[in-house]
Order: sequence, then structure tokens, then C-alpha cells
Amino acid sequence: MAIKTLDELRQADERTLHFTPMGLGLGVQMRPDDAAEYQQKVVAQFDLDPIVAEGTRQSFEHLRTIYAYGVLCYEIYTLVRDQALLVIEQALRDRFVDFHKGAVTFVDNTNSNHRVPVSRYEDVQEFLTSHRQRGWGWRLRLPNGDVMAFAGGMLGDLRTWARKVGLLRGQRNRGIERALSNLRNFVAHPTNYHLGGPVETAGTMRDLAEIINQLWGVPTPGGRLYPAPQRREVTVMTWPTDGKEWYAAVAAEAFTDFVDPDDRRWECVILRAVFRPGDHGSDPELSHYDSRAEVTRYPTELLWGPGSVTDAAAWFSQNLPEPDECDYLDRIFLVRRDGANLYLPTRPEVAAALPDQDRTGTWYTVKADHPNDAYHHVRNRVAGTGCQGDGECRECHAESLGSGPLHTALVHAGFHADLVPTLPNDVTLPWSHPRFQQIT
Ligand SMILES: [Zn+2]
Repeated sequence: MAIKTLDELRQADERTLHFTPMGLGLGVQMRPDDAAEYQQKVVAQFDLDPIVAEGTRQSFEHLRTIYAYGVLCYEIYTLVRDQALLVIEQALRDRFVDFHKGAVTFVDNTNSNHRVPVSRYEDVQEFLTSHRQRGWGWRLRLPNGDVMAFAGGMLGDLRTWARKVGLLRGQRNRGIERALSNLRNFVAHPTNYHLGGPVETAGTMRDLAEIINQLWGVPTPGGRLYPAPQRREVTVMTWPTDGKEWYAAVAAEAFTDFVDPDDRRWECVILRAVFRPGDHGSDPELSHYDSRAEVTRYPTELLWGPGSVTDAAAWFSQNLPEPDECDYLDRIFLVRRDGANLYLPTRPEVAAALPDQDRTGTWYTVKADHPNDAYHHVRNRVAGTGCQGDGECRECHAESLGSGPLHTALVHAGFHADLVPTLPNDVTLPWSHPRFQQIT
């Protein structure tokens, strides 16, 4: 190899300088000072919560420290990214030990419990390797009494464990978590050379920080994988009954300088919805809102309406509803199939309140992050194109919890008699979808 002087080692790596805040600059590059500051600021955004185990936090800090030196040596990005994928396993091990508070119960082939003191993950591995089991191997007893296979205590077991005890969540994340573990296995057992850049490494660091924080119960504000609950504004929507346009505004602002619309007849509703005027964070499906079907990307609640804008303003000033927050991962939807008609998803409490003529057919109970995911899963399932059976779907971002007549589907949804069926006023907008589609 070529031996470099200290001065040469201190020279910026030109390959890194091409990565600017605007993306990869072809023919342009940053000054080394600016690139050093910029790249450090990129990873400075990814923080771990103080609640996270010390060892995991130290490893994450090492990654951030070394990432800064990518300005001098481009190959560092590949090393940092590979190491980041390995830290996922360390975080799961640390969380496993934290979670079990000093003792883990394993179940043997005869269903007997073995309580094993555990102060570090090596204690688990030592037990599993020194007490080998014939057949299916050791199983782990979970706090709710269930048991799960835990023969080797490797990454796959830990990932399944984290899902079963509810530390990792979200249907779309299932696939992402699996992809990250596959990448980790590739890194641990590489079959060929690979070279990555600062953008993908920073992306992996961001995902890693989200996963680790989530394992310790801390969601990420504005996160990509495990976001903190979204703020829902009290939102007013209005549209002319003879037109196709619609308008939305934050109610508190809209009603202060309210002017009656022209002489056309206007309908109006007041909703709680993820709505941020002038920002990309608004619910992109809001124009399709339907009070009895789930079509918006985030949960939307009908507070008042439909009615005139004047009445809406009066109701608002009397009641002054407040914004709130909503979580949208792992929601439960019911999808109805009646003959050739497949209906848009509904919330269980709405389905439970439907009149008799709207309850016929087969109902599918589906867990998904977004109603579209639930709908497509059921459509594929009834059409026999891909999605099959109950449980976590391998083809898409949904989990089937069961199917049958409505009362059975409600039981699968965990809808108990003490919950109140709620049928909202019937509201559709000019751009709402038809409530059912014909399937062949
Ligand atoms: Zn599916």
C-alpha cells in the first residue's frame, strides 16, 4: 500500500466533497471546512434517549464520532454503515436483558419452566449452548404466558421477541425490520465487496436511532419508522353542493374573519384531521374524506356537520374544540365483501352501529397502518392474487385477524360489548370515492 504522510492523511477526500446539502453535486463540490461541518450536522440530528442502555448508547456515539472522518476518507462511510447494522443486534440484546429484569424463563421439551438469572446477554447464550435441547429446542416464556421459539437466541429470535412483546410496531415496519436484519446478515457474512456513501450511511443511522429509541418506548417526532403521534388540528372543510371544489382551513383561524360565501349552497363540516396549511405534512387523502369509511391516511374524526358555514361557526364558538394527537400504526379495520362488492374499510365502532341492511356478507378484520393497505390486502385475498390466510401477511403491509359475519369480525377486532357503537352523520365530499367496488 502507499504510505501517506500525516499531512496527506489530513487532506479532504474529494469524493465526500461532492455531497452537498442539495444532493450529489456533479461538477460542484463543497469547501472542506463546510463539508466537515455539514456532515457532522447531518448525524447530530440523530439522538438516542437517555433511557437507552449505556452500552448501546456508547456504540451509537462511536458511530457518530467516526462518521465525521468520512470527510477525510470516503471508505469510512461503508464501515460506519456496516457497523450500524451490527448495533441493531446489540440494542436488541441490551433491551432483552433490561426487559426481563434479572431472570428469563425458558421452556423445555416437556413444557417445564427453567428460570435463568440473566445480567447480560452472554448469560442467555451460555445457557442455550450448554443446555442443548433435542427437537424444537428451547422456547421463551413471555410475560403474558405465551411461549415462542428461541432456540439460538440470534437476531431473528430477538426481532420476533421484540414484536411479540410489543416493543416494535407498525405493519410497514415489519418488512423494514426484516430487510435491515437481512442486511446485517450480509454484513456479518459478506460475499462480495461493497462501497457506500454518506447519504445511505446517514439514512441507516437515522433508522438505527429510531429503532433503538422505539425499543425503549420512545417514538420519534416526525419519524419515518416509529413516529410520535401526529397533531390533529380542528379543521373546517367546506364545498358547494353544485361544484367540485373544496376548501379546508384551521377552524380557529377560519372562523375569526368569517364571511358568508356567495349565493351558492355550501356544505360544511368540522373535523379533527392531520392538516397543516402550507406544509407537506397534511393528510394527502383529505379531499376524499368519508365519515363512514376510512380513506384518509391518518385517522380523521367528525366533530360537527354537515351543515351551513354559519351554523358551523356558531357551533365552533360555543364548543371551542381543541386539537389533539393521533397514533396511526397498527390500526384495526373491517372490510366487507358482499357478493361481488368489496367495500371501503371502516372502523369497528362504525361497523358495529350500521343498520341491518349494511351488515350482510363476509367481514375481514385487518390490522394495518393505513386503510389502503387493509383494502388492498383483502382485495388480493378474495381475488386469490397473492395475499393469503390469517396472520401477518408475507406479501403486504397487513395482518389478517380473522373473517366471518360482522359479529365474528367484531370479536376478532377486540370490540367488546362495553364499547359504544358510533354511527357518524353521513358525510361525503365531492371527491369522495364510491363506497364499494365490484370485484370479479
Ligand atoms: Zn397481504
